[in-house]
Formats: sequence, structure tokens, C-alpha cells
Amino acid sequence: MTEKTAVVVGGGIGGLGTAAGLVRRGWSVTVLEQADAFTEVGAGISLWPNAFRALEAVGVTGRLGEGRIGVAGGLRDWRGRWIVRMDDTAQATRYTAGAVVAHRSELLSVLLDQVPVESRLAGVRVRGVRRAGSRAVVTHDGGSIEADLVVGADGVRSVVRGALWPDAAPPRYSRHTVWRIVLPRPAALADAGAKAWAETWGPGGVFGMFPMPGDRVYCYATATVPPGGRSPDGELAELRRRFSDWCDPVPAVLAAARPEEVLRNDVYYLPLLPTYVSGPVALVGDAAHAMTPNLGQGGCQALEDAATLAVLVEAAPDLPTALRRYDEVRRPRTQALWKRSLQTGTVSHVRSAPVRVVRNAVLRTLPRSIFLKSLTRPFSWRPESALEGGVTAIRPVV
Ligand SMILES: Cc1cc2nc3c(=O)[nH]c(=O)nc-3n(C[C@H](O)[C@H](O)[C@H](O)COP(=O)(O)OP(=O)(O)OC[C@H]3O[C@@H](n4cnc5c(N)ncnc54)[C@H](O)[C@@H]3O)c2cc1C
Repeated sequence: MTEKTAVVVGGGIGGLGTAAGLVRRGWSVTVLEQADAFTEVGAGISLWPNAFRALEAVGVTGRLGEGRIGVAGGLRDWRGRWIVRMDDTAQATRYTAGAVVAHRSELLSVLLDQVPVESRLAGVRVRGVRRAGSRAVVTHDGGSIEADLVVGADGVRSVVRGALWPDAAPPRYSRHTVWRIVLPRPAALADAGAKAWAETWGPGGVFGMFPMPGDRVYCYATATVPPGGRSPDGELAELRRRFSDWCDPVPAVLAAARPEEVLRNDVYYLPLLPTYVSGPVALVGDAAHAMTPNLGQGGCQALEDAATLAVLVEAAPDLPTALRRYDEVRRPRTQALWKRSLQTGTVSHVRSAPVRVVRNAVLRTLPRSIFLKSLTRPFSWRPESALEGGVTAIRPVV
């Protein structure tokens, strides 16, 4: 049998995850990345149990699983009063056990380990994609490549989506900007705070803090502002202005941070697509369903996409059947999480003081089991769920 070929456009989490899964199943894969190297930004990324199952399906085991998030923590208001507190109970453990906040570069590095060097081409910018019968042709700065399968993993401003989904709406600004910092764990978090995680909700903004392996802390802070803003005296100064009167240990953490550790990005999301597949071309990750980061699931979903595609190309009788099934299973799941993420962003960024009081009171009265259940529901996903009903349930395309 001739070797199947794939071109993956974009070498981020979704693209490398997809390439790893296909290589593992005997495909000849070429990953085209526009940047001069395969790199990620200097920030943390929360990986939940569903992401670890997806990583396993594409060949990554071990390393990232070390240093799980501690179980104690919760949600509090900016004055430090708990809204939802989780401690070391079996219920709360279900939330954090199996979750890790990894460094993005470490995640990328374990994915790169699964993709042969000869499959990775950096510094190649893709210009377009077109269908050619049952195959597709990718054009880039240096020429073109034809393949059985093309995967658009080129992020929220995807060129692949632009070429084959001409009616897709452009990305939208979420009204929120995000600052991210990874720093060595400050002395202020030395004792009780060492393993605690917390998300703090204040007027129109959020401050999150999660322990990372290697005695580091990952923080993120958000504000509701117009897009494109930059602070004239630097982003750390801006963060200190905005958050220094928030509850402990937020000011202490900001006092310990260094300006070069702070990243700032406006958050964009993608209006929903009617399909993730066009002939032999599939979209994965942010190119298909960029969601707001409020559930910490965007990257996890990119990995689920990658794992699902890998499982399906192996099990389905042919590629069109695999791709049709991919769209059938991935669209409902990712779009439901996309909606929940957007809603969570709205609820967590309320500015009006009376509305915040009511919101917090409602959340405090909600039984913790219900709260936890809704948080943990996405975690139960398994790669084989795409094959539910057995492989015979994957009907060939006629
Ligand atoms: C502030 C913030 C916090 C987040 N936190 C979390 C979290 O904690 N947990 C989580 O799971 N998710 C999180 N996410 C979401 C997550 O980062 C994304 O969903 C994930 O990075 C998407 O990966 P991707 O590979 O699909 O896209 P990208 O990471 O955007 O990668 C796309 C790649 O394609 C390349 N590319 C683009 N165009 C071209 C072209 N024309 N030719 C060649 N290459 C091209 C780019 O250079 C890039 O390398 C967060 C997002 C944000 C903004």
C-alpha cells in the first residue's frame, strides 16, 4: 500500500499534535511553520485530563504529567472573600488531580520529539490552499506541495480557512486583554500558598495564579479595555496600577515580577463555523474554533482534534469517511465549550458592583458538587469516543 501524505500548515500545539498522531500511524507528514523556529510564547498552559489522554494518543507520555496542580484553592472576590473554596476532598481532587500547568515551550518540545526532523519545515509561510480532485495543493513562499490530506492548524487568522471557507466571519475581539507572567515562586507564596491555586474576580477583571512544576508560578490578569492598548511605561507598571489594591498575595506577586516576564495579548475568538472539513482539508485548533481562554480548554481541544484525527484515519475505511466523522464529533464538542468559555468570560468580568454582589451570592449558595461537576464534565473525553458504536458505525461516504 502506498504511504499516505499530509501537509500540516502551522507548527503550534494543534499542528505538531496532529503531525505526531499521523506520523505514529505511518503517514508521511510535512509541517510548514512560518516562524523561523518552532517556538511558543513564555507562558503557562493548563492541561486537563482530557489533554493528557489526547497527548497519549499522539505518542506523548510522562514528562509533562509531573507536578500536578495542588488541590487547595478556589474562586474568590478581589477583597479575598471566598466565592467557591475547594479543599482536599475527593470531589475537589477530581478537579485538580491529573491537571498540570505546563510551560508552553515544554509542551511544544515534547510534541516536537514525536515529529521527525525531516518532517518539520520552519520559515515557510503558506499563501494558499486549493483542492485538486481528491487531493489538495498548498502554496507557500518557495513553491507548492500536493498531499492526500491538508490540515489547517494555522491559528485564529488561518490562511487555510481564508482560502477554503471564504464566507467565514473574521475573528472578533473579546473585549478583554490578558497579561501573563511565569516567575519563580515568590517568598510570599512560600508556605500555605505554595501549592494553592486561585482565580480572583474583581471589577471588570480577573487575576489567576497557578503553581507550576519547578517551583514556578503562572499568573494571568485580564481587563476589559479597547483593543490594541499598550502601557507607555511598560506592562508591569500597568499591572501594578490595576491590581496592587487587590487581596493578598496579588500585590506581593506583582512586586516580585520583572518587566521582561510580562506578556500582553488581546483575546480574539472565532465565530462558529458550519463545518471543519472541505474535501481533503480539515481545520484543527484555533483555526477551527478559537475560543476565549476562560475555561483553559483551547489548547486542550486542539490536542483532542489531533488525537481524534489520528484515531479516525486509522480506523475508518477511507479518508473521506474519517474526515466526515471528524467533523461530526469535533464540531458539537468544541462549539459547546466555545460557548461556555464565552459565557464564563462574561460572568467573570462583570464591572457593576451590585451585579457582582448578586453573582457572588448565587455562586456561594450553589452546591459545590454541582459547581465541580460542571467544571469537570469536559475532562472525561477519550480519543476512542470518536469510534463509539464500533468502527462499523463509521459509515463509508457514498
Ligand atoms: C491568554 C491565553 C491563555 C490561554 N490559556 C490556555 C490554557 O491555559 N489552556 C489551554 O488549553 N488553552 C489556553 N489557551 C488557548 C491556546 O493557547 C490555543 O487554543 C492554542 O495555542 C491553539 O493552538 P493552535 O496550534 O491551534 O494555534 P496557534 O498556537 O495559533 O499556532 C498556529 C501556528 O501556525 C503558524 N502559522 C500561522 N499562519 C501560518 C502560515 N500562513 N503559514 C505557516 N504557518 C503559519 C503560527 O506561526 C503558529 O505557530 C489560551 C489562549 C490565550 C490567548
